[in-house]
Amino acid sequence: MAHQDRVPADEPGWRHPPFAAEISDDGDGRLLWGRGTIDDTGALAGLLEAVEAALADGIAPRHDVLLAFGHDEEVGGTGGRAIAEAVRERFGVPAFVLDEGGAIVRGVFPGVAAPLAVIGVSEKGIASVELTVEQRGGHASTPPKQTATERLAAAIVRLGRRPARATLPAPVLGLLEGMAPHASGALGAVLRRARLLRPFLPALLARSGDQTAAMVRTTRAVTRLSGSAADNVLAERARAIVNVRVSVDDTLAGAVDDIRRAIGDDGVAVRLVEGSEPSPVSPASGAAWDAIVAALASERPDVVPVPYVQNGATDSRWFARYCPHVYRFTPFEITAEQLATLHAIDENIGVDAWLEGVRILSALVRSL
Ligand SMILES: [Zn+2]
Repeated sequence: MAHQDRVPADEPGWRHPPFAAEISDDGDGRLLWGRGTIDDTGALAGLLEAVEAALADGIAPRHDVLLAFGHDEEVGGTGGRAIAEAVRERFGVPAFVLDEGGAIVRGVFPGVAAPLAVIGVSEKGIASVELTVEQRGGHASTPPKQTATERLAAAIVRLGRRPARATLPAPVLGLLEGMAPHASGALGAVLRRARLLRPFLPALLARSGDQTAAMVRTTRAVTRLSGSAADNVLAERARAIVNVRVSVDDTLAGAVDDIRRAIGDDGVAVRLVEGSEPSPVSPASGAAWDAIVAALASERPDVVPVPYVQNGATDSRWFARYCPHVYRFTPFEITAEQLATLHAIDENIGVDAWLEGVRILSALVRSL
């Protein structure tokens, strides 16, 4: 799978025009510049390249190989949903699904020198939760003891002070154990005892940084706020939107209840606007996992495959509803700087990394 659409590229400041596919070479290797090179046109073109080359070589896979390219992944994924339903109707349950997600990365975890292939085995749920305080308005010159906006602000502060419970979801434990043999120093010592230290790891990871905290709990971020429309008018309705990412150990309803409990004020209405449950977890073992890992190893035996839970949503979530083997991984080596260009200016990918990824996809297609 891959998606054909891309986020806009309207921001000024691109070093190379976003739709010219220019290749530069400043000595550190060739780079291909453009919107979609990482997300997700690079994978789309790579998959087509791998399949066309296999056809040209007269390869006839033993199994059906379906190519599924949604057209609106970045704005809801109705295409991905329709494709998943059509596949189920016409072909039944696929042996596995491979979509965008993790990549080959280095230096993401301090103390882990080996390059990692982070393969998404699930994705967190996502929800928009609305907090509203309604109160009689009036003139700002004679305010009540607590205005609607102040009551909402107090609720938001309480929410921040009471984060959701930290747990160690099974794929996160798998990630830690997979990295353990390749980690040095204090981190290595902890990771090698991950199973033993399991009761303490959630709290430790929750404290270690924003990235690791997001791995062990449902996260909440207040993204939108609104109050009154004028400087001298008291708000009759103060409103906040909380963007929630639901841990695979949690549920949508559970996450909303936790928010209500953390706020602990009946005067603040808590309402789920929209949301989706976290995806079921696919196993980091078995025939499908092994096929992906074998294709990777044929080109990059130095890369360590590890499972992980994605924070963002992909089109493959529609398959995850009925297919137990859904993996989110594009086999391109991406640097931290390149990752930062995702959905931003200067999106680019290494030409060699892309060609290597095509060879990995090609090995996978030929093994099916
Ligand atoms: Zn994408």
